[in-house]
Amino acid sequence: MSNTQELDNKYVLPTYARVDVEFVSGDNARLVDSDEKKYIDFTSGIGVVSVGHANKKVNSAICEQISNITHTSNLYNIAPQVKAAQKIVEQSGYDMKCFFGNSGAEANEGAIKIARKFGEIDGEVKRYKIITLQHSFHGRTITTVKATGQESMHNYFGPFPDGFVYADTMSDIEGLVDDHTCAVMIELVQGEGGVQPQDKGEVQALAKMLASKNVLLIVDEVQTGVYRTGKFLASQVYEIQPDIITLAKGLGGGVPIGVVMTSLKDILSAGDHGSTFGGNYLSATAACAVLDLLKEYAKSGELEKMTTYFNQKLEEIYSTNRNLFTSKVGIGMMCGLRVNNADTLSKIIANAKDEGVMVLKAGKNTLRFLPPLTITKEEIDEGFKSLNRALATL
Ligand SMILES: *Cc1c(COP(=O)(O)O)cnc(C)c1O
Repeated sequence: MSNTQELDNKYVLPTYARVDVEFVSGDNARLVDSDEKKYIDFTSGIGVVSVGHANKKVNSAICEQISNITHTSNLYNIAPQVKAAQKIVEQSGYDMKCFFGNSGAEANEGAIKIARKFGEIDGEVKRYKIITLQHSFHGRTITTVKATGQESMHNYFGPFPDGFVYADTMSDIEGLVDDHTCAVMIELVQGEGGVQPQDKGEVQALAKMLASKNVLLIVDEVQTGVYRTGKFLASQVYEIQPDIITLAKGLGGGVPIGVVMTSLKDILSAGDHGSTFGGNYLSATAACAVLDLLKEYAKSGELEKMTTYFNQKLEEIYSTNRNLFTSKVGIGMMCGLRVNNADTLSKIIANAKDEGVMVLKAGKNTLRFLPPLTITKEEIDEGFKSLNRALATL
């Protein structure tokens, strides 16, 4: 056992089943551990390091900013926060405003508060119910874990806030909408649930049905947002107009940040919501640098080129290992291979690490890939070579 793991066991609460490996440096999709072993990173810290490790542009923007000022509180104007909001709104193409927090769960808490206030002040009866999907994931706070449609996460922590209703499938949602429903919250591609994209036609029909009933559509883009599925937002890929969108993971390039954005620009008043850290100079500057970089990267066609190449390599692995994999799933740089049994999946992930490529699990049986969006052809080739070796040694 490493020294770090020993100390972790002694001083850190055991909420993670950590792998005993410690990365000490990185460069784009490359990682180096404390034994100087090299890896290709197909995880990007669960979709966070969207611009790669040790990104020079993001790092120099952060360094320049924090050499002047890091934090003042939201009592005063913060230029980088305003700039980040402007970039987010402009890149989304939606007529919205932003609120900044520090994580995905917090962004979703903001979304739920907006929906609840809307439900309180709009209409005759108070509406408070929020419908979410089975196998969804919306966070770990008491409210967002209750919004998460996974019964196994609802042990121990009750009583929970009332008003969360779970739909088994997209087509069950309409039947669950009643006079007390204020919103429906979905992921367009379920991430933690197993890299499961929703059907575009079904999503568009849902959006239309909800609009006709004056029920809000919240799209949780904490994982799908910031170019992960090819466009800035998966909502753009699905060609819908949500009322509320949340972002977090890929937005800060590793610096904690979360955003809830909404077309209900006047719903919240001063004092309704707030955050000490949210959108401070550090995280907002990181987000601005990430947004500038990825906007250019997508515009240049490079993101699409590498996404196509990555998926081509994944398709090769899939078609040559049909004994292990049952399907290839996902959109853009959010992809997965369904594995025919859970034991095999764990072995693949462990072998992959030994062979020098980091991959993720999602749901019960999905091998998940969330590479940095800036991953190069050479890094993709190396990663898949290692993955092929990992599969050969099963
Ligand atoms: C990761 C994730 C969250 C939670 O984000 P945190 O930053 O861990 O709070 C919420 N929703 C989705 C879709 C996610 O993938």
